[in-house]
Amino acid sequence: MPILVHKYGGTSMANIERILSNAHRIAKDIEKGYQVAVAVSAMSGETNRLLALADEIDPYGSGRERDMLASAGEQVSIALMAMALHKIGIGSVSFTANQAGIKTDPFHTRAKILSIDDTRLRKVLDEGKVPVIAGFQGVTEAMEVTTMGRGASDTTAAAVAAALGAERCDIYTDVDGVYAADPRIVPRAKKLDRISYDEMLEMAGAGSKVLQTRSVVFAKKYNVPLQVLTSFEDLPGTMISEEVEGMEEVLVTGVCSDKTEARLTLYGIPDHPGIAAQVFEALNDEGISVDMIVQSVGQDGQANISYTVNKSDLGDARKVTEKVKQGLSARDLSVDEKVSKISVVGVGMKSSGGVAARMFRCLAAKGINIYMISTSEIKISVVIDEDYTELAVRTLAKEFELETEE
Ligand code: ADP
Ligand code: ASP
Ligand code: MG
Repeated sequence: MPILVHKYGGTSMANIERILSNAHRIAKDIEKGYQVAVAVSAMSGETNRLLALADEIDPYGSGRERDMLASAGEQVSIALMAMALHKIGIGSVSFTANQAGIKTDPFHTRAKILSIDDTRLRKVLDEGKVPVIAGFQGVTEAMEVTTMGRGASDTTAAAVAAALGAERCDIYTDVDGVYAADPRIVPRAKKLDRISYDEMLEMAGAGSKVLQTRSVVFAKKYNVPLQVLTSFEDLPGTMISEEVEGMEEVLVTGVCSDKTEARLTLYGIPDHPGIAAQVFEALNDEGISVDMIVQSVGQDGQANISYTVNKSDLGDARKVTEKVKQGLSARDLSVDEKVSKISVVGVGMKSSGGVAARMFRCLAAKGINIYMISTSEIKISVVIDEDYTELAVRTLAKEFELETEE
């Protein structure tokens, strides 16, 4: 029997009424002849509530205990979701990540999935029941509980879908699909019927938090189509799949912003081979992902290097970089948290040039200064002052015709 994975986000799990409505939707897909596995998030606001409690004690406290706390939100959801399925006569078994065999690396609060042993999930599916798996959490080889970064229930769902060889992974949320820009910033943003894995990867990495980036990595790697759709109405969603003909005709598919990164700059580092390697190896050894990097042209044997990391990793990144600074006798280290990354994405850029120039001209016309620039084949990102985020997104949405007419 073909398998579908459903994922329900926080707002789709917000109360018992929503949870029961999800159960009915699952029942419909079972009636259509699918085996369904479900991944759930914590009830809306719950992860924030738990982490705020931790912050009251110590915002830079033990990652192990933060994970123990934050993972509790999803444990409530799995039990309620399974109970709701029982209520309408569907067999269901809830699973913590440990019970579902989801193994991660040991980096607390930012763990990555290493493997999934799907034996127990398959057994439950073969018994005609619905496994309900806690999103966001994992377990290490040493049986420590981890979490995989904010929004990681998407990743749990996509990884489970890949492990089970699912036909599709349906991500149920509070918007009816992926829009060309965050609808909260650009209310008339166009809804996309389809988007390629690569574009979605870039958009997620560029701050479109409708999907966690790693969920798209799994989907692409194992070729599991993702569908983003609303759990509030019966509406078609957005399909995320391999690139198909015609996609390249659109120059820019989306514009995104990201306020979750902070910029660190090391001034006066020696300008010779191996220095950049030293800086980024030290960060990598702590499991800290770096996004944008800019190194200035060397002068008098010295250079500056700037890079961005997620704000949630800033405490660790600062500690690591401070050590590197001392080791290299660098002149100074600065940290800027008031920055934002603005990106335009589109496979159409592969065949047409000029997007970067148009983007920079547009920002200049609004008096927005650019601190850093990075490009890929299908994306251009800039770092600017955080205060200009919404203005930049709206201006670029207009420039690249990402709004509906009416
Ligand atoms: P969930 O709790 O279901 O995982 P999220 O809040 O994580 O939901 O993600 C859905 C939200 O993502 C939407 O409410 C929307 O505001 C936001 N979002 C940001 N960019 C986009 C985009 N390009 N298209 C659709 N939604 C977007
Ligand atoms: N509950 C977690 C969060 O709020 C995971 C998720 O929602 O995907 O980040
Ligand atoms: Mg989410």
